[in-house]
Amino acid sequence: MNKFEENPTVQRYNNKIQLFFPYNGHAVNTNYDFQAEEHTDNRIKKFPHEIFSEKSYDGILVAKSLYNEKQIEKIAAEGGIKKHLRLDQLPYDVPVMGDCGAPRYMHKHMPDITTDQLFNYYTSLGFDYGISLDHIIGQYEHGGKGTAEQRRRRDLTINNNFELLERVKKEQPGWYLIGSIQAWSAQSFRDVALELAKGGFKYLAMGGPLNMGMPDSDVADVLKGLSDVVNDYGICLHVLGVTRYSLLPVFKECNVITCDSATHMVRAVIGPHQAYLGEENGYHAGLVMPKANSSFRAKRYVKSFDEKEAEILKKKDAEVLQKEKDALLEKEIAKQKKNILLGKLKSSKVQDEEEKVKLLAERSVDASMKKAPPGKGLEIRRNSIEDHMKFGEDVMPNLLEGLDRKTKDGIEKLDIMARDALRSYDRGEISLQEAKNVLLQYLRCFDGFNPKYFENFITTLENKPWQKCGCQMCQDTGVDIVLLRSGETGCRRIFHNLWKYYRSWDKAIKELYGEEDKENTSVQN
Ligand SMILES: [Zn+2]
Repeated sequence: MNKFEENPTVQRYNNKIQLFFPYNGHAVNTNYDFQAEEHTDNRIKKFPHEIFSEKSYDGILVAKSLYNEKQIEKIAAEGGIKKHLRLDQLPYDVPVMGDCGAPRYMHKHMPDITTDQLFNYYTSLGFDYGISLDHIIGQYEHGGKGTAEQRRRRDLTINNNFELLERVKKEQPGWYLIGSIQAWSAQSFRDVALELAKGGFKYLAMGGPLNMGMPDSDVADVLKGLSDVVNDYGICLHVLGVTRYSLLPVFKECNVITCDSATHMVRAVIGPHQAYLGEENGYHAGLVMPKANSSFRAKRYVKSFDEKEAEILKKKDAEVLQKEKDALLEKEIAKQKKNILLGKLKSSKVQDEEEKVKLLAERSVDASMKKAPPGKGLEIRRNSIEDHMKFGEDVMPNLLEGLDRKTKDGIEKLDIMARDALRSYDRGEISLQEAKNVLLQYLRCFDGFNPKYFENFITTLENKPWQKCGCQMCQDTGVDIVLLRSGETGCRRIFHNLWKYYRSWDKAIKELYGEEDKENTSVQN
């Protein structure tokens, strides 16, 4: 028997790299009403594996930090994690791996959970695998003995590993313990791996590459440094948080059999630039489209828009008044000087002639402005504000008739019109230019409007990638899937990205192992 086969995980996966989905509570309501933007009464929450008929990952990673103790008790009472995620309904096997969720407490001195709690979490919820309790070190270095704090965290993690291993050996809880390695350099990773291998671990997780911002070359250095330990002790590896294709040959070489990444999921919701995963691992830009009627952002925008308008008015008022006053004063001074020459200067207590002229001129101007406030300037000012408000109306005059964008009500109507225009464009009923015009009317109402981002999104609209995508989410959602607008649009895009990523992952894995191994890449039950 091959020494790797002593490890049940290797047998299960037939020694092929498996992709795990880091579950973070993601679920969509398939009955969500996108027109009204409301959850209907018969709300149905579905997980990606319930929506897609094809596999979108090989396994699921569920961090303990996702649940509090009460929720864990509830899920246990319901029948465990597989039942909770309705994995037991699937025709294929999806292994579930647990971890402690170390990034959540990495800034604290000590982990905020105990090995007892972690053991109970894995046991009561019926996990297949559980990663030991670790503490992220935070800084990668090339060599060195590490700081006292780095060594403390490494030792803490090693101790937790052995504490859990003892308990697992004694109680045989039914899940497989994965040792966790936290270290700061290729050498220190190797040292820890060797210690854990000698202690009996067969499956080790390399922690921290993402949190330490390690480039591919450093991840490859660490893995290659572990090679002899891996070979001598028949170890298989999991890499936490990194699934880069460029690393796959190194993964294969170093017996990495599982890995996970949330990058393509985070991108879906973190900003508009790389929101929607397309062909060849390229991304399409999404659009941040605030909800006029409910989002905090929209309210803030509406408010700031009003404030901005008031500010413009006030400033323009002051400018206009000052300008007109200066002009009048100049005229009056000239008049008073003429009076001096003509000997008509009115008597005054002020002796200096220059001062006398100025004083008399100012009095005269104030009196005349009180009688007739400047009208011409105010008219110009109002026209410029109106011009701003009317921006682009010439292209869509009928649609915007009677709409007052200065009010919340007006902006809400424009919001509905903009989304209707996008859907009409999606159905091929109006041109891209027409959709763009209406959308622009809405987006221009907000301070945060950025023409460059808008143009990137127009390119996405032009390409309509959701129409070409074969995933159920795109087919069900349409153009709304590229809007950064609500939890429902965001989660749908996450699911699409998951599905899309797995298609290219599967291709990369087949290439890595050669087409002839195609049949063997499926999960072995
Ligand atoms: Zn899709």
